[in-house]
Amino acid sequence: MSRSAVWHPFTQHATEPVPPTIVRTDGAYVETRDGRRILDAISSWWVITHGHRHPKIVEAIRDATATLDQVIFAGLSHEPAERLASALVDMTPPGLDWVFYSDSGSTSVEVALKMALGFHRNNGFPRAGIVVMEDSYHGDTFGTMSVGARGLFNAAYEPLLFEVDTIPFPAAGRELNTLDAFERLTRHRKAAALIVEPLVLGAGGMRMYPASVLAELKRIAERSETLFIADEVMTGWGRTGTMFACEQAGIVPDILCTSKGLTGGSLPLAATLATDAIFRAHYSTDRTKTFFHSSSYTANPIACAAALANVGIWNDEPVAERVAALSRMQAQKIARFKEDARFENVRTTGTIAAVDLSVGNAGYLAKVGPKLRAFFLERALLVRPLGNVIYVLPPYCVTSDELDRLYATIDEAAAFVSDKR
Ligand SMILES: *Cc1c(COP(=O)(O)O)cnc(C)c1O
Repeated sequence: MSRSAVWHPFTQHATEPVPPTIVRTDGAYVETRDGRRILDAISSWWVITHGHRHPKIVEAIRDATATLDQVIFAGLSHEPAERLASALVDMTPPGLDWVFYSDSGSTSVEVALKMALGFHRNNGFPRAGIVVMEDSYHGDTFGTMSVGARGLFNAAYEPLLFEVDTIPFPAAGRELNTLDAFERLTRHRKAAALIVEPLVLGAGGMRMYPASVLAELKRIAERSETLFIADEVMTGWGRTGTMFACEQAGIVPDILCTSKGLTGGSLPLAATLATDAIFRAHYSTDRTKTFFHSSSYTANPIACAAALANVGIWNDEPVAERVAALSRMQAQKIARFKEDARFENVRTTGTIAAVDLSVGNAGYLAKVGPKLRAFFLERALLVRPLGNVIYVLPPYCVTSDELDRLYATIDEAAAFVSDKR
């Protein structure tokens, strides 16, 4: 066979092995061509919620294709998008009344940033500053890289990234530093918006902080009329224990971004929800105030139908109970590493569990990362450590026995890493 023409994401083709070909997905598993069933412990990069190929979502996709494919969404509308928008308004914190569709998490964040700048400009008091949290991740486009942490992954593009103001991560015991920094930055009322990943910083290493900090950040934002953007692309749809993470802080963001779990992980779709005040700032007989944004596949009807089926599953099945049970299991099972010197920072938020491998040298870890991935893959587990952070972010259908096998293998992996040292 000739070599593959595929250039894979976040993949160093010079050193990484040829990836296995997946021919089937099912529940918590992905199956390779040679028949191996691999437990998807990272929900295929955080998108799968209920499990792969939930029958109701598969059926909804099939049904939708009987009558619709892509339809231009400027000047035309369709029922799946209309129904989904009203469902999203109902399910998200009250006050988020408008739904703008796009096709990926990154785009939903780009839309949020544009809405924030448009809001201030159209209201006659332009502001352009964006405040971000240290170690955040919001996507891989230029705008989202600009508001995300700088480092290895975007060093080559740094010359074209725009400047932002960064507040420190609210590490335990240092929460006040974060709040004070934000207070100082908003004092001159130049910041258009604060963008945060509520409760859990995903790609930044599954760093977790309490809801009280989120609530306090919102209060400071309100006082200075700085818009509060909640990037719930990873945290939404039950991942942190509640439907959306903001609920745990009892806050309503001005703008909320959702994607990954929106279709249960089956098809690409995203939505940026906004308050009426933000919509009204763009609502005018003056056409220069129009919100100028679109992607070709905005509100794809088939993806909207999949998302509606996902909403139906949340309404008709005991998903909240499943999420609660999984959250308890995760907390119990990862606790085995608490008194273990090979691990640090054992932590969970809802269904997400993470632990740091106690290895001093990060450079060394960069090398061991691919070896760790291979170690897990050989044992039919899909796990992708972030540096020295091993995390478990499974679909909600994962069983207690499957998690036991996974945690036992993480234990072995720690021994494997110490041996290699
Ligand atoms: C994954 C992620 C994004 C980007 O989503 P894509 O669909 O990959 O573009 C943005 N924000 C957060 C918090 C994410 O985890």
